Amino acid sequence: MHAGAVIVAAGSGQRTGGNVSKQLRLVGGRPMLGWSLEAFRRHPGIERIVLVVPTGEIDTYHAQFSLADQIVEGGATRADSVLQGLRALQTLQVDHPMTHVLIHDAARPGIDQTVISQLLESLQYHDGAAPALPVVDALKRSSGDQLENVDRADLWRVQTPQGFRLDLIIEALSIAGSAFVDDLAAVENLGANLGLIEGSERFSKVTYPEDFARMETLLETKTVVRMGTGFDVHGFEPGGEVTLCGVAIPHSAKLEGHSDADVAWHALTDAIFGAAALGDIGDHFPPSDPKWAGAESEIFLREAVKCAAAKGLTLSNCDLTIICEAPKVKPHRDAMRARTAEVLGVSIDQVSVKATTTEGLGFTGRREGIAAQASVVLIGTRQ
Ligand code: MG
Repeated sequence: MHAGAVIVAAGSGQRTGGNVSKQLRLVGGRPMLGWSLEAFRRHPGIERIVLVVPTGEIDTYHAQFSLADQIVEGGATRADSVLQGLRALQTLQVDHPMTHVLIHDAARPGIDQTVISQLLESLQYHDGAAPALPVVDALKRSSGDQLENVDRADLWRVQTPQGFRLDLIIEALSIAGSAFVDDLAAVENLGANLGLIEGSERFSKVTYPEDFARMETLLETKTVVRMGTGFDVHGFEPGGEVTLCGVAIPHSAKLEGHSDADVAWHALTDAIFGAAALGDIGDHFPPSDPKWAGAESEIFLREAVKCAAAKGLTLSNCDLTIICEAPKVKPHRDAMRARTAEVLGVSIDQVSVKATTTEGLGFTGRREGIAAQASVVLIGTRQ
């Protein structure tokens, strides 16, 4: 089994009130969509994640949700949006086809590792599976002034994620379109065998403004703050420019070293690994491994962000100090901040770049190279 996840966040969420789309509103200090995205990313059984977002808003989501493997625009109906996501997942195959998918609604932030595991297990025996809760309230059908009792014994409230064989759900939605109440009903129409697993109030949908506070209580979140530091040095060799924070700066020499020798991003990468207690840059990208020879430092930085996110940690802010006599960093500072923010998936306000000299002392004073130090604060939530 090779499974991926499609998170549908294409709705505008008007009923929750406010101008911000529901899936971007904060729950427990994090955008609602971030909760389920992280839950899927953390699960070893989920190989790829596709986000389906409102038309015209891809850039906003790219900047905030770098944990997703692909972000696509939704369609006119929910079924169209799901199909866009499923087709994107099919094309994300690396060396093997995806066989199964969990389709999830971004308005249900409370999912956990257990429900993902149980769904994947259920999919070994069923074409489709979903979490469900028994109905506890008495049910009545009203027609005019008559009330009729409805037996609740066999009734279930079905939640998401809903899991399927990928080929089957694509076929079902291609035929059925939006004619069914949910994805499970669409495959049922094809005669699929379906399994229900135990649901939870935590998986319930955030729909109305008052649901936010209730969900925060259910999530029982506590904020975690972790700091890290990084330091790096590269010496000069003959050349015409140096790369600092992904920005090429003309200079009378270049920096010597593994890859593009972006000393600032190396320090920052180490600081992120440090804050997450995940070792250092050398552990993740051994200089002895030819795979990393000449690799751009952007790859290292993105990987550090991804590893931290897999531990539920996102960047609150970072502060970089570049130490050299030359080149002059100040004219490039805002470009360096902007590039760094882009790669980290944060706003420029969360990135500081400073520069200093050592008053002619030491190796930087002798213009033999550049040193950089970085501090970062990562925040996360603990349950
Ligand atoms: Mg280095």
